[in-house]
Amino acid sequence: MAKAHVDLICNIGELAGLFEKSTSLENFLQTAVSIVAFHMHAAVCSVYLYDEATHELVLSANQGLNDSCVGNLRLMLGEGLVGLTLQELRPLRDGHASRNPAFKSVPGIDEERYQAFLAVPIVRGLARVGVLVVQDPVPDYFDQNDTRALQAIAAQLATVIENAKLLIALHRMESAKLTPPPPVHISVDMKFQRGLAVAPGIALGKATPFGDAKDDLYAIDIGSTADLTREDFERSLQATEQQLTELQRQMEERLQDVASMIFSAHILILRDSMFSGAMLKLIDRGQTPRDSIIAVASDYIDRFSASENPRLKEKVQDLTDLSRRLLRNLRPGMEADVDYHGCVIIARDLLPSDILKLVAQRAAGLLLVDGGATSHIAILGRSLQLPMVMLENRDLLSLPESADILIDGDQGTVYINPIDSVRDRYQELLQSSRDLERNADVGANACTTDGCAITVMANINLLSELKLARQMHAEGVGLYRSEFPFIVRNDFPSEEEQFHIYRALLKQMPGHDVVFRTLDVGGDKMLSYFPTLNEANPFLGLRALRFSLRYKDIFMRQLRALLRAGDGYKLQIMFPMVASVDDFVEARDVVCECHRQLEQEQVPHNGAPRLGAMVELPSAIEVAPELAAEADFLSIGGNDLVQYILAVDRTNAQMSDMYVSYHPSILRALKRITDAASAAGKPVSFCGEMATDVRMLPFLIGIGIHRLSVEPRQIPRVRQSIATLCLAETRTHAAHLLRLGRITEIEQALGIPRQPISTTAPA
Ligand code: PEP
Ligand code: MG
Repeated sequence: MAKAHVDLICNIGELAGLFEKSTSLENFLQTAVSIVAFHMHAAVCSVYLYDEATHELVLSANQGLNDSCVGNLRLMLGEGLVGLTLQELRPLRDGHASRNPAFKSVPGIDEERYQAFLAVPIVRGLARVGVLVVQDPVPDYFDQNDTRALQAIAAQLATVIENAKLLIALHRMESAKLTPPPPVHISVDMKFQRGLAVAPGIALGKATPFGDAKDDLYAIDIGSTADLTREDFERSLQATEQQLTELQRQMEERLQDVASMIFSAHILILRDSMFSGAMLKLIDRGQTPRDSIIAVASDYIDRFSASENPRLKEKVQDLTDLSRRLLRNLRPGMEADVDYHGCVIIARDLLPSDILKLVAQRAAGLLLVDGGATSHIAILGRSLQLPMVMLENRDLLSLPESADILIDGDQGTVYINPIDSVRDRYQELLQSSRDLERNADVGANACTTDGCAITVMANINLLSELKLARQMHAEGVGLYRSEFPFIVRNDFPSEEEQFHIYRALLKQMPGHDVVFRTLDVGGDKMLSYFPTLNEANPFLGLRALRFSLRYKDIFMRQLRALLRAGDGYKLQIMFPMVASVDDFVEARDVVCECHRQLEQEQVPHNGAPRLGAMVELPSAIEVAPELAAEADFLSIGGNDLVQYILAVDRTNAQMSDMYVSYHPSILRALKRITDAASAAGKPVSFCGEMATDVRMLPFLIGIGIHRLSVEPRQIPRVRQSIATLCLAETRTHAAHLLRLGRITEIEQALGIPRQPISTTAPA
């Protein structure tokens, strides 16, 4: 049976494992082509890498052709079938390659023998990386399944190759030294500060700078170093690699949807001869292992920091972490200290993948200074239960490492070197909140005192949250934010990768509704690998559905994955930031096109998904009746709705007192949307954070919103609150609020004290 193991190679585990065993990029690619050829039962498999400077594709690894071609066979972009694949950035499959007008005969490799040809581009974001090719003598040997499998592999290869290219670029760079900032003296007024609560929970630990705050490697205490030898260094190298591999393995087990290869750059740098090799050379010349590690690492850190290339800058922290590990591993017994175990991290800018790395290394909490909290950082922090506070004070980046810091992610407060009574109070709080969680009366459904059932579903960002959602008896997933696999990876996930994630989600919520939201990026949710658009007002720019409609190939990849995953399930898909009925119809047409394609390819899929529109924009509210007529359901994204109606940036801490979710305009808008849905006979749900505000719940229920979706851990609280409400009373209450035209009147009716304003903008 041919190609029976294609699924196996789609599995990230195999490729990551393969990468771990390789000693260089060439070695890795060579092993990769052998494995691909083996699994696909293909006579030939090759990888061509693209050189942007010369526009040439170079054969870089091969199985089945003449060995001497590797490194020598070069094709221009657009030349031959391989060049064409990369030029047009789409797979090329031909059962009789030599008859293809674009076929180019290369002397000496006898390619005419291999009629069946299949090539897929390797891309990262919009950057061309290379081409992966399989060939076989049997005409028409490859089919659509092979194309998809090969695309999945190409997506994984892109990450590894990208990292390797960074190293090569680095080797060419000039060194430039930076001076570290002087340590800050902790003044009395710095000891207690109030910031913005971003992700709930309490953390107490050592203040630990992260990111562009430069670490002093000499400050890392590893005891006496005079007796350390070359063997100690070699042992440290080995231990470091083992730890990183183990971290990667654990993360892939725990966070299969997002954690793909997050430690791969560490491992690659570690193995690089210019890095660990240079350290060894210094040791052989008589330097101590500690000084050798610090000398080489500092040189690299300086070069990375001074680089114009943002991707190199991103790696500064990876290098610092790696060096810290190497130093600590020099001393057997200090292994426990290599992670960020129990530390409170202080950072200015963080990538979503940094959060994963911090959580993997057991950081206790995160203090973001100087405006670094993007929505996705905040949401990821909450999903991963990492307490988080944001504060406008850069000085905190230079706190001495000996300082203890306590952050309260519920209140948004920060204590530096807290006195004993503060510590004790927080220890008690921590304990009682654990007890409360353990004993929470979860209940299986929510009903008002007069018998109206309210559906409470879960907002899900990561697959790992499904467990909690089930524990909380969520009645489905009302919002799956599909962007996390996109923002945490180094590149757009392939159709195959997305298919596996979506399928896993449906499988884990059997018998329940699951609503998938298509990609919502842009605004402050940027993709690190996608060129930034330099928009003056990103929230009013190429965001969410606009992005998907502009980049249809990315949109179609996601929709195809969703339709395939939905085979045999009830499938519900909704589009974020719909601005007009026309937007919705255009998106629906793309779904139909994907359905047609899959039909033609005879790929099993769900041909009749229910399609919904998210109502988050004033323009959508104005056409809500027409939108409700076209869509199968409406879903209100309250967080954005408030932002766009009130023109208040939801991520701007300084504007949080103006982010008033009970503003009369908001209440009236919500009523209009609900009325439009009900007039069209279409269901409407609500998935913003307002649904967790017990002061707002009576209004929402009173105007007829009976499907809510909230963060899983909020479900018991929301249910408890619903159980105290009487539907008839909520209707009277809502009608009363809708008659009020001033914020102050509504505050009075809701019992909200005017000073201080307690509304918090959801990040
Ligand atoms: C919203 O806008 O309310 C919403 C649910 O989506 P997000 O918070 O992801 O923008
Ligand atoms: Mg939104």
